[in-house]
Amino acid sequence: MSSAGAVDPVDARTAQLATNLAAVLQRIDLACVAAGRDPSSVRLLPVTKFFPVEDVRALYRLGRREFGESREQEATAKVADLRVPSSDGGLDAVRWHMIGRMQRNKAKVIARWAHTVHSVDSERLATALDTGSRAAIDAGIRVEPVEVMLQVSLDDDPSRGGVAPADVARLADHVARSPGLRLSGLMAIPPLGAESDAAFAKLATWHTRLLVEHPEARELSAGMSTDMESAIEHGSTCVRVGTALMGARPITSA
Ligand SMILES: *Cc1c(COP(=O)(O)O)cnc(C)c1O
Repeated sequence: MSSAGAVDPVDARTAQLATNLAAVLQRIDLACVAAGRDPSSVRLLPVTKFFPVEDVRALYRLGRREFGESREQEATAKVADLRVPSSDGGLDAVRWHMIGRMQRNKAKVIARWAHTVHSVDSERLATALDTGSRAAIDAGIRVEPVEVMLQVSLDDDPSRGGVAPADVARLADHVARSPGLRLSGLMAIPPLGAESDAAFAKLATWHTRLLVEHPEARELSAGMSTDMESAIEHGSTCVRVGTALMGARPITSA
């Protein structure tokens, strides 16, 4: 409230985020209704990469408790920052999700803060994360195993990440046997320029297959700003939304 009538930039940003958040939640609700699904069966994961910790605090004040990040250094810094109590107190109830490609040598650090990792696509990476998770548990830094989603490749381009569909079952068994990990589902990103509907339909087929051997792997992390409706139609339980919530990122991500 300003007697001069000027709008506080922090309030303006919070108001913008509140408006965007309401619009995204409404899109999710409508997509659930259209798909004949219960709206509570789809979670919104705000993706805050490239945006400052102040935005995370604003979203926290707006009731969000889960956040997705895709770059290890940026995420690790934000997590540390938000643990420091501010006027809001420390943001202790936050669950951080690692959604981006990750190098094996970052697994140890990520296992210290990630509630869930969406981008596990090899046994070597899973093993590194398991080791990191168990070390973090032993050190009292975390309590629960790291929740793991297997990132499945929807094209034949290994450079874009993701395990080949034929190898999902083996990787799932490996994760399920790892004491520091908990298999929670599948994740995918449709190929650039591809028809997302067909890609999500394929993903749903693989998820159904995985559930036969691993009924605990209920989560399906699929759908972003432009294609969440299609993903929800095909069974997504978690949409990862950046742009529609935060606005355009300052620079494009890899
Ligand atoms: C950045 C990112 C998103 C969010 O994408 P938007 O199109 O901005 O909603 C979702 N998933 C992953 C893996 C990302 O890296």
